Formats: sequence, C-alpha cells, structure tokens
Amino acid sequence: MGKSYQVGRKLKITAGRVYHCSVCGAEVTVVLFGGGKLSPVCCNQPMEITEVICQIYYCPVCGAEITVIKEGTGVPTQKIADRLTPRCCNRPMILRLAA
Ligand SMILES: [Zn+2]
Ligand SMILES: [Zn+2]
Repeated sequence: MGKSYQVGRKLKITAGRVYHCSVCGAEVTVVLFGGGKLSPVCCNQPMEITEVICQIYYCPVCGAEITVIKEGTGVPTQKIADRLTPRCCNRPMILRLAA
C-alpha cells in the first residue's frame, strides 16, 4: 500500500469508504451512508472517492462502532481480521462486512 489511490467515480458508497483530497491530502471515511447524495468537499473541490474501504467493527452489546484507520504491518501473512481483535463489553467486536 502506498499513498497513491486509484480513483473511480463508479465506486459504491458504503460504510468505511474513504474519500481523499488531492490538494491537501485530507481523508475522510464514511461512517454511515444514508443513501443520499454524499459529496464531501475539501479545498473547494470535490473529494475523490477511493478504492479504500476501512473496516468497521461493532459491539453487539452496546452498539459501539470503531473504524480501522490504518492497518498494522505486523505479520504480513496474517489477515487484518486475524491480527486486530478489538473487544468491547468483554467480548470480541464483530467485523461489519461491506454491503
Ligand atoms: Zn483539501
Ligand atoms: Zn460494547
């Protein structure tokens, strides 16, 4: 993974989707997509939708949600879901798969 993103207009907007500002490098993540016309703007221009989708974990007990902003680089052969095991309310949080 580098700092260059593939940008495409046809990408589906979903929770975890990352938008990128090509001017200043700002990035935002969609936490909840309501089905509207989402179009984040930065530096006076529309942010670019990227192929990156951050993974979101939720707690089935209290409803807490966390977003993975940056994956660790610990053990390359392991999937992130195996490395990262967030817990809440004394139980593992559940990975919310992109719809
Ligand atoms: Zn910007
Ligand atoms: Zn919880």
